[in-house]
Amino acid sequence: MSTISVIDTHCDALLKLWEDRKLSFTDSISIDCNAERLVKGQVKVQCFAIFVEPFVKQDQKFSVVLEQIDLFYQKVLTPHPQFKLIRHWHEIETLEDGEIGAILTLEGVDPIGDDLARLRILYELGVRSVGLTWNQANLCADGVGETRGAGLSNLGKELVKENNRYNVLTDVSHLSEAGFWDVIKLADYPIASHSNAKAKCVHPRNLTDEQIKALIDAKGFIGVVFYPLFLNGTNHATISDILHHIDHICSLGGEKFIGFGSDFDGIDKKVENLKNAEMYPVLLNELLKHYSEETVRGFANENFIRMLSKNV
Ligand SMILES: [Zn+2]
Repeated sequence: MSTISVIDTHCDALLKLWEDRKLSFTDSISIDCNAERLVKGQVKVQCFAIFVEPFVKQDQKFSVVLEQIDLFYQKVLTPHPQFKLIRHWHEIETLEDGEIGAILTLEGVDPIGDDLARLRILYELGVRSVGLTWNQANLCADGVGETRGAGLSNLGKELVKENNRYNVLTDVSHLSEAGFWDVIKLADYPIASHSNAKAKCVHPRNLTDEQIKALIDAKGFIGVVFYPLFLNGTNHATISDILHHIDHICSLGGEKFIGFGSDFDGIDKKVENLKNAEMYPVLLNELLKHYSEETVRGFANENFIRMLSKNV
């Protein structure tokens, strides 16, 4: 079995912990990215998304963000001392054997309303990557599900500049195409934390070749997502479907910019033999049949780290 460790740029374990307060992060079988599974899957760094469901009323959204951050500290970090909060990017490279880096991310800025002070408070609490939207529109930008299809508002542009000032990543997954191009112009650290290639599967959540090339030119990052619907348009997919997307992004020059953004705990359908975080070695072994070990190490962790240092 492979000994390559993994960085995963998107999971929704915090949402599951928020929805059912009785769940344990340690070993609940309903959590794809629970602590035991992350250890077994040789995950070195896990991003934990804060996501507020659209049904939550606007004036309650920021409280829900804080509740999920509280759950992150109380259920992920405190009971598991081997989990280390990543506050500064260089801390990923100083993680010791047996330690797992935990990165807090925000999926959709609806909860901050028009108040960038709230965003800075979230930075202070540990948020290191910010996606502007989920599928709907908000005051900063339109998501892929908003038919208006607008890009960033002035507030959205200010928000991206604030991300740059704090070395925080700007995540384009879920963002409208017009919003994507605005972010590419402005963001120091553009990433697509969980998106696939539209050329391989036509879905609004996937990226066109032009978008993929722009992320490569910007020395950004694309986390390939393990959701069957975004892999082949159906409810059933295999690891070869993931390889098709990786092959395609590589054919556009993206070999050094690809990683994994599983979307575990946010997806109801799974890829065969890749149903939770403990199964990464199956994916890595399949990749090792097609790519050199150096390239697979890039996909698994080094491309993300290199993107952070902007040192390609
Ligand atoms: Zn998502």
